[in-house]
Amino acid sequence: MSLQDTGPSLNWPEPRDRVQTCAPLPGFEKGSAFVDGRIVPIEEARIPLLDWGFLRSDAFQETVSAWNGKVFRLDDHLARFSRSGERLRMPIRYEPAQIREIIHSLVRVCGYDKAYVQIINTRGRPPIGSRDLRLCESRFQAFCMPYMWLKPPELQSLGMSLHISPRLRVPPASADPMVKHYHWLDFEMGLLDAYDAGCETVVLTDSDGNVVEGPGFNIFAAVDGTLVTPARNMLDGMTRRTVLELARRLGLPVEEAPLSPEMVRGASEVFLTTTAGGVVPVTSVDGKVIANGAPGSFTTRLHAAYWALREEGAMGDPIDYSAAT
Ligand code: PLP
Repeated sequence: MSLQDTGPSLNWPEPRDRVQTCAPLPGFEKGSAFVDGRIVPIEEARIPLLDWGFLRSDAFQETVSAWNGKVFRLDDHLARFSRSGERLRMPIRYEPAQIREIIHSLVRVCGYDKAYVQIINTRGRPPIGSRDLRLCESRFQAFCMPYMWLKPPELQSLGMSLHISPRLRVPPASADPMVKHYHWLDFEMGLLDAYDAGCETVVLTDSDGNVVEGPGFNIFAAVDGTLVTPARNMLDGMTRRTVLELARRLGLPVEEAPLSPEMVRGASEVFLTTTAGGVVPVTSVDGKVIANGAPGSFTTRLHAAYWALREEGAMGDPIDYSAAT
């Protein structure tokens, strides 16, 4: 289904002419991965069992997307990747320019014009017999798949149903939320609670009782005519950053401030922001319908503005599909 066939209330921009990509290399139709310095088909990718990224969730990542052959805000993502590495005191074995090349190659071997790419640094492991993490040699790996949606585009006009969980997001004093890490058991359990409650997804709260973020997204709510998004205790998502910039450019009132569950439940609009789908409307919270069950005007304007940026290729790093891999 084309994006133009979507429901009435979200305006997707006219798609540009499809970018000239290249054919996927044989075996790379479903995706690609970079492991141990080699590019392999995604289903063949393996990581070592003893890597503390696996045994201890001692890892950080960055998820970037390509749309019409351009990687969005790549320099900003690479800067955030470096920030995560510094905060976890974990060296990254490749320079940003080399990581850029790896990302481009991963997309190119698949021939995708729209892609979802995750780059991952893990702690590695110390010599057998040691538990000293200072002796670990960190590892870098990455994978690329077709562009991934939090909610399929043709269903986004329906909005998502959201559960506000009383579960606390892992506290910032324990795991720095500005590191894009894999401490997700709270999200995973929250998601199961959400499914039990008949909802599609979940947001967690912090120790002050405020809503912070969900599994892979930030949240905005329109409260008394102003868009509010949490200011602290969450990851500063790249889509959140883009939406804040767009809102200011469009002259929409927007504020970074604490967001209580009551504010979300009473909001006239709620939406989620994520690399996996952009600006995603929410139309019910814990069974209560928001804004008559349709995306409201802040949501539709920011959704359209975000996708216009992506269609235009603004802030995009073009992939050279003719380059050799
Ligand atoms: N918060 C968390 C915990 C995330 O994992 C993510 C993305 O994966 C986000 C927020 C949204 O960030 P972005 O807009 O960069 O995708």
